[in-house]
Amino acid sequence: MIYADNAATTKMSAAAISAMLNCMEESWGNPSSLYGLGQRASETLQSARERIAACIGASPKEITFTSGGSEADNQAIRSAALLGARKGKRHIISTAFEHHAVLHTLKKLEDEGFEIELLPVGKLGTVTAQQVADAIRTDTALVTVMYANNEIGSILPVSEIGAVCRERGVLFHTDAVQAAGHLPVDVKTQNIDMLSLSAHKFHGPKGAGVLYARQGVPLTRLIEGGAQERGRRAGTENVAAAAGMAAALEETCAHMEENAFKVSALRERLIAGLSQIPHSALNGDPVNRLPGNVSFCFEGVEGESLLLLLDDRGICASSGSACTSGSLDPSHVLLAIGRPHEVAHGSLRLSLCEENSEADAAAILKAVPEIVAYLRNMSPLWKDKISGKREFVL
Ligand SMILES: *Cc1c(COP(=O)(O)O)cnc(C)c1O
Repeated sequence: MIYADNAATTKMSAAAISAMLNCMEESWGNPSSLYGLGQRASETLQSARERIAACIGASPKEITFTSGGSEADNQAIRSAALLGARKGKRHIISTAFEHHAVLHTLKKLEDEGFEIELLPVGKLGTVTAQQVADAIRTDTALVTVMYANNEIGSILPVSEIGAVCRERGVLFHTDAVQAAGHLPVDVKTQNIDMLSLSAHKFHGPKGAGVLYARQGVPLTRLIEGGAQERGRRAGTENVAAAAGMAAALEETCAHMEENAFKVSALRERLIAGLSQIPHSALNGDPVNRLPGNVSFCFEGVEGESLLLLLDDRGICASSGSACTSGSLDPSHVLLAIGRPHEVAHGSLRLSLCEENSEADAAAILKAVPEIVAYLRNMSPLWKDKISGKREFVL
């Protein structure tokens, strides 16, 4: 099997599995209990908190464990919204191609009376710090802009945006779920007030994430109950998941440069090869993109059919994001960068990690052109284009 869907989820690392097993066998007590077993769990949790904080330049008190990236995004945005509303600030700036965890939370806030401004992301899929600066108003409560896009891999200038927000006194949150472990994160020098992480995107367990909130930024609880996580999130902590997440993040951060070097070489080989397919187009920024992201649109092809035929050959990939591929709507990300509906339906995302090989790339480069040609041959729409009855889009 060739796994090329690392933006959807990753395989857990041996280090993460062993940290979790160790925790489940040795420090399985309730971290709030006072006896030794509970205290061992509490120490495991604290150690995970310290190590995760160190990976992103935060202090341990600024780390809140959550059930994943979605919860962290929800809590960050809700907290900033509530804080803003208390001061009469109800304007929130974001981008048109955020993850649904951000966009759907913003939609809810819009229904609750907030004004949501989604910045256009252009053909390459990015926003500039100047766009953000121009959009900031005196009643802006929050700027939330992702660090790197999960579908098309473009990397956004979060340091510059952070600087603008700090200067203007506006809270800045970034969804760094796709960036963590692949791109440097330093919340202090990048002027980030809140940041979301998800363990299963960097070889940790699913259902575990982190919300970093700078000291002094009060968080609103989404879950009421006990006083865990210093009152920011109730519920007995998932100690094993925290330990696995810390082990995974430390490992990916320690090997970031060498992994990026290796993975981006594979990416370039795939991009060069797939670009040979006629009437195809690379999505996103050719230069400023995540090391492992390869995203294409192929005219005259249904993304779903492409995925099924790739699966027949043992290749796991995706079309649009996992959340949207269950529906018939084309990806909001591809629409946001200006791809017409028809073409947005024919998308393929390959997301690589350091475990992928040159042999994987060769197999993908053999399979995709064959399948695209096969599907086009069966398409009446494609026949019309070939015969000149319809225009090509790409
Ligand atoms: C996967 C992902 C999320 C959601 O994280 P979960 O841990 O799966 O809830 C949020 N944002 C981005 C950019 C993602 O890729």
